Amino acid sequence: MSDKNISRREFLKIAGASAAVTAVAATGCGKVAENSGLGNTTTSVSKNIPTDKMTYRVNPKTGEKVSILGYGFMRLPTISNQSARESGDEIDQETVNQLTDYAIEHGLNLFDTSPAYCRGMSEHAMGIALSRHPRDKYFISTKLSTFSPQQWTFEASTGMYKNSLKELQTDHIDYLHLHGIGMTSFVDGKALDGLECLQKRYIENGVLDFLLKEREAGRIRNLGFSYHGDVKVFDYLVDNNDKYHWDFAMIQMNYVDWKYAKQINPSNTDAEYLYNRLTDAGIPVFVMEPILGGRLAKLPTHLAENLRERRPESSVASWSFRWIATHPNILTILSGMTYMEHLQDNLSTLCPLEECTEDENVLLQRVADEFVKFPLVPCTACQYCMPCPYGVDIPTTFTHYNKCVNEGFISVSTQDANFVEARKRFLIGYDRVVEPKRQANHCIGCGVCQPHCPQNIRIADKLRDIDKYIEQLRQETL
Ligand code: SF4
Ligand code: SF4
Repeated sequence: MSDKNISRREFLKIAGASAAVTAVAATGCGKVAENSGLGNTTTSVSKNIPTDKMTYRVNPKTGEKVSILGYGFMRLPTISNQSARESGDEIDQETVNQLTDYAIEHGLNLFDTSPAYCRGMSEHAMGIALSRHPRDKYFISTKLSTFSPQQWTFEASTGMYKNSLKELQTDHIDYLHLHGIGMTSFVDGKALDGLECLQKRYIENGVLDFLLKEREAGRIRNLGFSYHGDVKVFDYLVDNNDKYHWDFAMIQMNYVDWKYAKQINPSNTDAEYLYNRLTDAGIPVFVMEPILGGRLAKLPTHLAENLRERRPESSVASWSFRWIATHPNILTILSGMTYMEHLQDNLSTLCPLEECTEDENVLLQRVADEFVKFPLVPCTACQYCMPCPYGVDIPTTFTHYNKCVNEGFISVSTQDANFVEARKRFLIGYDRVVEPKRQANHCIGCGVCQPHCPQNIRIADKLRDIDKYIEQLRQETL
């Protein structure tokens, strides 16, 4: 990931030349759907997935072998065939059991959940699915997910932990996370920063001392934390590793977040910093968001094509898994696999792992550089900024723009293979969803909307950028 000096043209040339070689060597049979992390998008290629080729990493403390692919139970299928995370429907236990059996059969041995996942139903579903197998065939990872201030008492927190043991039908947790370290909160109308939340959630109430004793007693075999947000909290915990002896830590990591996490979301921290700090401290890494909430499986077309040309037999999502797993201090990569296609795609990528070459790392760095040129606008369509005195339909404009970015209908140049299609989709769709007199070019930058946005989006600047892009599309001057 070090060569930043090659031009876009050279970048495309690298991808194209390599594709010629790989296309000749490509083999495989059977069907694997594209893994979006949220749902299936396109079909790609097919493979037979061996049952004895899982890649494992060794936990340095226990010596146990942990599968590099971990099963995240945060998006379980429901009886209405949707993800339980989004729909809140009843979990389809039979399908969860089948997915679990298939995963174990293919050597996956780490299953991750939380009392907060699937509206509180995930641990129960995992307990049912896993208790059908011998306890030494799998590791359970769960979390102390005390997000609400009402849960910050010793009794409520330890009660949550004991309930996890019950729901998971076990007498010990293999990996227990302090969940959401670095997150901020509001208590009695007062904002608490990440360090204050850490104090209140785990330290002042004696909960961390309790967990350390549970680890001594062997009911928690590994104690760690999952990090989101304020880097001061991450640094505090790593700085105090001599005191707490963290067995692992979970961070968000993929080839885009490596150098661009902060650029995408100013409250995040680049994964390069987090991973290197943990590695220097000797703390093994769990990875979450390996495909950036599904976005790295649905890259803009011109970027996805570069990856598909290089490895026609592999899904676009698989690149991120391979890139992450190539880092030696990764213990496991958690993926929320709602459907069998997701599970099969990830298994086929990591059974066994084919590490990324230096050449491929350069390619992915260039993909990341291009990807962040079109960041999503973090608009939730809450409408608090409306009405605009000049009639601009702010949320619909942002929603349309985000949709085009997510679906790959975005171009960086008129030379892009998908330029004509992307131009058509963006412009026709825009005119359809936003009346011409309410489009971004009517923003005069008065700033009236700005203080109302809870996401702190620089609304006028974003509208101006989008309008500039639209004009370039219309004039074909990109
Ligand atoms: S800055 Fe633009 S979008 Fe916001 S209120 Fe003013 S004109 Fe409307
Ligand atoms: S207030 Fe911000 S987040 Fe809400 S709709 Fe407006 S721009 Fe989007």
